Parts: sequence; structure tokens; C-alpha cells
Amino acid sequence: SYVGIHSTGFRDFLLKPELIRAITDCGFEHPSEVQQLAIPQAILGTDVLCQAKSGLGKTAVFVLTTLQLVEPIPGETSVLVMCHTRELAYQIKNEYARFSKYMPEVITSVFYGGTPMQKDVEILKNKDTHPHVIVGTPGRLNALVRDKNLRLGNIKVFVLDECDKMLDQIDMRRDVQEIFRATPTQKQVMMFSATLSKDIRPICKKFMRTPLEIYVDDDAKLTLHGLQQYYVKLDEKEKNRKLNELLDTLDFNQVIIFVKSTLRATELDKLLRECNFPSIAVHSGVTQEERIKRYKEFKEFNKRICVATDVFGRGIDIERINLAINYDLPADADSYLHRVGRAGRFGTKGLSISFVSSDEDEEVLKQIEKRFEVALPEFPEGGVDSSTY
Ligand code: ADP
Ligand code: MG
Repeated sequence: SYVGIHSTGFRDFLLKPELIRAITDCGFEHPSEVQQLAIPQAILGTDVLCQAKSGLGKTAVFVLTTLQLVEPIPGETSVLVMCHTRELAYQIKNEYARFSKYMPEVITSVFYGGTPMQKDVEILKNKDTHPHVIVGTPGRLNALVRDKNLRLGNIKVFVLDECDKMLDQIDMRRDVQEIFRATPTQKQVMMFSATLSKDIRPICKKFMRTPLEIYVDDDAKLTLHGLQQYYVKLDEKEKNRKLNELLDTLDFNQVIIFVKSTLRATELDKLLRECNFPSIAVHSGVTQEERIKRYKEFKEFNKRICVATDVFGRGIDIERINLAINYDLPADADSYLHRVGRAGRFGTKGLSISFVSSDEDEEVLKQIEKRFEVALPEFPEGGVDSSTY
């Protein structure tokens, strides 16, 4: 422990009492390192470009900061938060609900594709429901802006979560840029991710003015220390039997199983249910309503097994996941880092097991070990002690 060093509490940030009460209700005792570094400057209006490892509370940095700064004026939106998937937008909206519990005057809405746009338009038309804070995905938000249903002339804070992902993909980047241009020049900009390569940083900074920059330059420091990581070498055709065995023998609370396609997610989920495993699948092949329904079922612990594509690869925060399985290994080390980060949130323990079945997989495995300086041993024959994950 840090004897003699004053440990910072949320109170030291001089947040509104309504926020302090909500933080206490959430059971947050101490701010994490990234929260200590970023919140004090962010609430003064500084732009922030922030990289910090998975699960250490980047969401609370922008949610608390924007709730501290928001002045709810009827009919005006002053905070805009964008992220790359609909489930993450939905999750962030719920974080706003948690932290604004004692600020009933603040209205937050979430807008994303795959739902009737008319509903969003109704909310925006009515002064009593018009949000002060909007969370959403870029496609839908841009459509609302283009049709002049959403006016962004009062935006004071502009936030991108998973910013590298949002600016990497050309179509998403174009939407983000168009939306950005519809906001006033004078505003605060904040961006967050666990991965911020040297190439993406200048692109992020084009949106900002002398930001506070927080980076993890040593990739090895992105490794989650509570997380034990293993691989299993096997043939493609052995994957189902091995998965079955792992699910039978491992003592997990909740597990997320990543596959590379929607089709494989559907098939694997079906197979698991036929074997009486309580599984659900989340991917882009089902209706949006159904996707959110399944997300909730899993988050609320009504299901213990979730088969997912990369739509759940980043940002999704489910407390009881302590096992992440890469049934299909992702194509790059960054995706791996985000995926396994779903287990072991906020420094808790977890276990990840990755199936390696091709030469390409072996190559990715090598990249992961090298970049994150992580020992990725073969999963031991006799399993691992369940008290360690
Ligand atoms: P990140 O975006 O950095 O990956 P999240 O913002 O999703 O991480 O936070 C991960 C989990 O940690 C969430 O469940 C969140 O409620 C919790 N958390 C965040 N900050 C704190 C804190 N100061 N004390 C306790 N739990 C926290
Ligand atoms: Mg996050």
C-alpha cells in the first residue's frame, strides 16, 4: 500500500453532490488511475485523447465529466457521445441513467440504426422529451442530422468511445466527420480506447485542440494481470468437442465465445442449445430489437453462455464474465486484446482460452505474445485451479 500518500477519492474531484451520491450508490470507492488522470482536467474543459487498458473505467471519465458540465436547457442538446456498435450505445446510455439518478432534470436518449427512425424524430420534436445528452451510432445520428431532425448547434462536448475503431473504418469515419462539422467550432472533444496506435493518434488529434494526451506506450502494460491466457492447438473439426469439454469442466460464472461470422455464431449457438447449454447468440444477423433483448438477458445473468461475433468484441461490460473463449482466433492482436478484455473487468480475475487451428492462427498467436509480452502457454492437460480465475 501507499503509506503516507494521500489517496484520491471521487470527492477530491469537486463534483456536484448529486454525482457523488450516485457514485457512492454504484459502489465505486476509489477512482481508477485513468479516472484520476483525466477527470480533473476534463471537467475544466480540456480536450482529452485517452488510452487506458480494458475494464479500468474509461466510460465513467466521460459520463461523469459530461454530467458535471451539462446545463439542461429545454430543447437543446449539449452532449453528444458516439460509439461503434448499437449494444455499446445502449450500454453507455444506461451508464448515464445510473450516474444521473439524482439529476432528474437531465434527459438522455440513445439513437441507433435498425430501429424505426420516426421514434427518434418524435423524441426530438417534443420539448419535454428532447434530450440534453445523446448517445448513438454514427449512421443513425448522421441520418437525423441530414434530415434536419437533429440540430447540433448547441453541442458543448463531443465524445468518441472506441475512437480508433470509429476512425479506422472509412464509412464510419465519414459519418463522424459530417456530424462533427454540424457542431460548433467551440467545444470540448474527448476520445477513448484501449488501443491507440501511433498512426491513429494524429487523426484523432485533428478533431482536437491541445488535448491532454494519455497513452500506454508500452504494449506490455496493456496486459490484464488478473487474466490467465492460454491456447489450445487443435484441428478445426475438433473445436466442438473441445468446447463441449471446456464448458463441462470449467467453473465459470459467465462465458463469452467469439466466432468469426454470423453464420458460425448461429450454428454454434444452436449446437450448444441442443446439448442443453444455456446459450444465446449475439450478432448482426438478428433484428435490432432481438439483439438488445439478448444483450439484456446476458447482462442480467439470465443466460450464462453467449456466442458472439466482434459486435461484442469491444466495450461491452458484463460483470460476471470470467471466461472468454476464442473459438475462432481474431485476425489481429488488437482485436484479441479487446476480446479477452471482456473477462476480468476492473482488475478482477479471469481466464481466456484461444483455439489455434491454422498457420494464420499461429502467426496471430506469435504477434500477440510479442506485442503484449504475455506468456500464452498451452492450456494444461489437467485444466487450471478454478480459484485462480
Ligand atoms: P473501459 O471502458 O475502460 O474498458 P468500463 O468503463 O467499461 O471500462 O468499466 C469497467 C467496469 O468497471 C464497469 O463495470 C464499471 O462500472 C467499473 N468501474 C469503473 N470505475 C470504477 C471505480 N472507480 N470503482 C469501481 N468500479 C469501477
Ligand atoms: Mg470502454
